[in-house]
Amino acid sequence: MRVKIFQNLYFCKGGNTLAILETRNLVKKFGNFTALNGVNMEVNKGEVYGFIGPNGAGKSTTIRILLGILKATSGEAKIFGMDAWKDAVEIHKRIAYVPGDVNLWPNLTGGEVIDLFVKLRGGNNKSRREDLIERFDLDPTKKCRTYSKGNRQKVALVAAFASDADLYILDEPTSGLDPLMERVFQDYVMEAKNEGKSVLLSSHILSEVERLCDHVGIIRQGEIIESGSLKDLRHLTRTHLTIETKEEIPNLHLIDGVHRVEKQDKEINFQVDTEKMDEIMRHVSQFGIVKLESAPPKLEDLFMRHYDSSEAENRG
Ligand code: ADP
Ligand code: MG
Repeated sequence: MRVKIFQNLYFCKGGNTLAILETRNLVKKFGNFTALNGVNMEVNKGEVYGFIGPNGAGKSTTIRILLGILKATSGEAKIFGMDAWKDAVEIHKRIAYVPGDVNLWPNLTGGEVIDLFVKLRGGNNKSRREDLIERFDLDPTKKCRTYSKGNRQKVALVAAFASDADLYILDEPTSGLDPLMERVFQDYVMEAKNEGKSVLLSSHILSEVERLCDHVGIIRQGEIIESGSLKDLRHLTRTHLTIETKEEIPNLHLIDGVHRVEKQDKEINFQVDTEKMDEIMRHVSQFGIVKLESAPPKLEDLFMRHYDSSEAENRG
């Protein structure tokens, strides 16, 4: 087993658990344009952090700063307690990175590229590499220049998951994968998490984030506008209900926490703030429930609330 000499540095500061990855007030300007405007995030050991937001929100910029490729204008970016810019060489020994658009050396085969990456990062488990290649259904004998986007993505994913890393930084890593391979990818993320490793996963596939992530940060125009555990965030979301009652419910739309009431014959569709569910159901049940269907709150609903301005106005 490898001895991790930096372990004490980041686990025992002041008796608190120190984050594996942390940014504080991270600002990045490109000329006059502010791409990041004070980004705060924290990824802890054994945690999968879902970093979500639309194109142009600042996900890749944040990640490039964390990788030491870009220098922040101001603020802090730390990995394993070390400075992302100054200590990049030390940090890189223990992280694996997969970008959304993978460029590989055109004249090397996929297998050669995988070997090269794995060698650089340490980790020399041949059977692990073979398993990964088989599960991702990759032909490692082909030259990289002949690979499709999806296959280049697979090469990078195999190399990342074959490496002995403590932190995986994945920037929209599944953008070229078909649903079957998406599933394989998710299995490996879960495996890494179960081994106590940490993952920063930037994604715009909300179902993927919902399935994998413990903690979610939503970024918009360079600012984190919502962050918390998926459980906490669900609390802020609405549950969709379809209901039929014996007697008509008077003024349902006026009840606090009820939204978007729509009648369809005998049925009523509406949404309730999940935190007001109990109260609302008590009230509604007085009118004799004949039929009740509910759909659980989705991360997508929460996400969309931030991008639907008329909704945002109603939130207050
Ligand atoms: P995301 O990964 O969330 O899609 P990015 O971090 O790539 O977003 O981009 C955030 C914003 O910063 C975008 O408006 C993008 O055009 C801008 N940007 C990114 N890199 C540069 C750069 N090197 N020079 C100027 N603007 C950039
Ligand atoms: Mg990006």
